[in-house]
Amino acid sequence: MRVGVLALQGDVAEHIAVLRADGAQTLEVRTPEELRAADALIIPGGESTTIGMLMDRYGLAEAIRARGAQGMPIFGTCAGAILLARRAGGGAPPLLGLMDIAVERNAYGRQRESFAADLTAPQISPTPLRVAFIRAPIITEVGPPVQMLGMYDGRPVLVRQGPLLAATFHPEVLGQTALHRYFLQMVDQAA
Ligand code: GLN
Repeated sequence: MRVGVLALQGDVAEHIAVLRADGAQTLEVRTPEELRAADALIIPGGESTTIGMLMDRYGLAEAIRARGAQGMPIFGTCAGAILLARRAGGGAPPLLGLMDIAVERNAYGRQRESFAADLTAPQISPTPLRVAFIRAPIITEVGPPVQMLGMYDGRPVLVRQGPLLAATFHPEVLGQTALHRYFLQMVDQAA
């Protein structure tokens, strides 16, 4: 199994480090050919407008959409979660539209634009997960096929729709590995 990390912009190295620490084989994905060699994909946090624009330019948006529709596991974090959504408010980049969620970009107040928080997500970890919200979006709508796996401040921040997983925060910057392990289990189940 090879887990691709979309390597156009953002937290690429951080995700690769966590995946490798968990024993996964990884692959940086910048082209549709590289995507073909991946069994799953992480879309990292960064700037969704930049990642979205580059994805389009390199023919990756279409390729990821097609693989996603065929059931390839995809994990989008922060900007990656925005790109997975079907609708985004706040100056939306071109979206993949694979998940039945709507998001609002940069939706936390200015003084809280970036903060760490403890999430309760019992399906992922018996103990709270310490994660970072960095100019994070808010999930404003979830459709019927979407499971809410983690909540913060009364809102869903970690959601799953079959083989698709989206987190509005960064799981990779505070030494957290439980969420990557959970995704790797999803990848095993999809194989
Ligand atoms: N604010 C960024 C965006 O809208 C997301 C921030 C992040 O990924 N940490 O794309």
